[in-house]
Amino acid sequence: MGKKKRLIWCLYPSYLLIILISITAVTWFASIKTRQFFLENTESDLKSRAILFESRIASLLDPLDSKGLDQLCKEAGKRSSTRLTVILPSGEVAGDSEADPATMDNHSDRVEFINASTGEYGISIRTSLTLSRDFMYLGIPVRKEGKLLAIVRTSIPLDVIDTAIKGIQKKIIFGALIIILLGAVISLIVSRRISRPIEQLKEEAEYYIRGDFNYRVPISDIEEIGSLNESMRNMAQQLHARINTITQQRTEIEAILSSMIEGVIAVDSEERIIIMNEAAGRMFGCNPSAVQGHSIQEAVRNTHLQQFISETLSDNKPVEKEIGLVSEEERYISGHGTMIRNIEGKGLGALFVLSDITKLRRLENIRKDFVANVSHEIKTPITAIKGFVEILRDDTSKDENDIKRFLDIIAKHVNRLEAIIDDLLKLSRIEKDAETEGIQFAESEIKDVLESAVQAVKPLAGSKGTEINLSCNDKLTARINPPLLEQAVINLLDNAIKYSDEKKPVKIEALPDEKEVVIHVTDNGRGIEQQHLSRIFERFYRVDKARSRSLGGTGLGLSIVKHIIQAHGGHISVTSTPGKGSTFTIHLPR
Ligand code: ADP
Repeated sequence: MGKKKRLIWCLYPSYLLIILISITAVTWFASIKTRQFFLENTESDLKSRAILFESRIASLLDPLDSKGLDQLCKEAGKRSSTRLTVILPSGEVAGDSEADPATMDNHSDRVEFINASTGEYGISIRTSLTLSRDFMYLGIPVRKEGKLLAIVRTSIPLDVIDTAIKGIQKKIIFGALIIILLGAVISLIVSRRISRPIEQLKEEAEYYIRGDFNYRVPISDIEEIGSLNESMRNMAQQLHARINTITQQRTEIEAILSSMIEGVIAVDSEERIIIMNEAAGRMFGCNPSAVQGHSIQEAVRNTHLQQFISETLSDNKPVEKEIGLVSEEERYISGHGTMIRNIEGKGLGALFVLSDITKLRRLENIRKDFVANVSHEIKTPITAIKGFVEILRDDTSKDENDIKRFLDIIAKHVNRLEAIIDDLLKLSRIEKDAETEGIQFAESEIKDVLESAVQAVKPLAGSKGTEINLSCNDKLTARINPPLLEQAVINLLDNAIKYSDEKKPVKIEALPDEKEVVIHVTDNGRGIEQQHLSRIFERFYRVDKARSRSLGGTGLGLSIVKHIIQAHGGHISVTSTPGKGSTFTIHLPR
């Protein structure tokens, strides 16, 4: 497309051209007509003068008085400012107002003479050979009884007429120039009057493009432009309303999508991302607004997801898939993919809803591990019991000491089984009660609970010569379930004594804090290595299995403590230095 011109520069030059052409044409026509008018006027004037002069020379022609004729010509010519000539039928000049007839040549070849001799009059415009000027000549015949006596010729120099015509032409051109100037100004005003409202319309439309639908220019009084402007405003209003609706809908959809826990991804048939919500962005570690419009391969570096998307786009039915994510920790995502179709059923892309099922998977794994652990824990004592029972049953020749020894071993394993089952029952009861909110809490004194716990471990402490130092304010209270908290403290004290050498003191101290009550159980035992600290609260987790077992541990003690404290709305922490001792801290909310 060529360079675009402004409307005013299309209208104005056209107007100007029309004005120029018409004024020039009028001026030219007027000039020609003026000259024609002047010549006609001069011709009739010359004719009248010739007729008047003819009557005066009649007596001088018959008989011919050349001298008198010439004199009369000179006199009359002077008074009438006209050149007067009398030419005889032979072409000889008898009298002339301007020159001496004797010096003038024969005029029989002059057009006006020839035409006048044969007709009513003759006329000619030409340069005078005698006077070397342009003249208009008019000749009329002078007849007597049908006989031609002479030709009276009147003539006038044309430069006089030309000067008059030029003067008039100058005035006409001057007038034309003023009209052209006026016309140029008026056509500029008219062009602007047409183009200005259109330019204003354009300006208003540009504001609409920028999203400002309230910008207004004055409505033009040119009907077509005015109604175009009104239609444009109606259109803008409708557009504004629609944009508002779309924006509002979009904001609502975005709010819904971003508040969803599930990840949502929509892609087009080219696998370019149309929508990705924040949850999906978090799952795949990308910024949803930055990846919009990018292909899924560029945006998310997860081959499982890419395959899932390709599969959904090529399959006609919904696809369900589990995706593993390996970042800092292993995570599992369950995805549902469906094709997005338009009204005609044509596939436009696909929509994916992704749920993080890591927790579910972990719980499942915990349950699996738990069953395996329980089975494993129970299997050892049962195998031992079975073995010794078989020995006792098959071999009757044993002496009494052997039998007693075997029975003791069987009793020990039965006790162990009992302890495991007791602990498991305690755990499941606490879990169940915590779930059903069946645990009763009351504001109770902590010291009572701690004293009861110390009392309960007295026999074990006594057997190892362990001194237990209790430090707790009598008035210190918290919202607790005393029997459960006592059980937790007993487990901690039990471990503190069990995993310390003989005569190593154990300290139990309860302190109030701004937000919580903390109970520290500190021992001077062997301590726990750093790598085990995060795992000792798991069920059946033991640092040294054989040692724990020999000490009668089930590996469930700390797990029970953790569940009790969690049921109280608190948490437990541990610090330990291998070889020096450990401190377990119960944090209870106040
Ligand atoms: P267990 O019945 O084996 O004592 P727990 O759940 O009570 O089981 O403890 C888990 C493991 O944590 C123990 O096997 C032991 O290795 C370690 N442990 C717990 N308390 C202490 C402590 N006070 N000092 C050293 N190790 C401890």
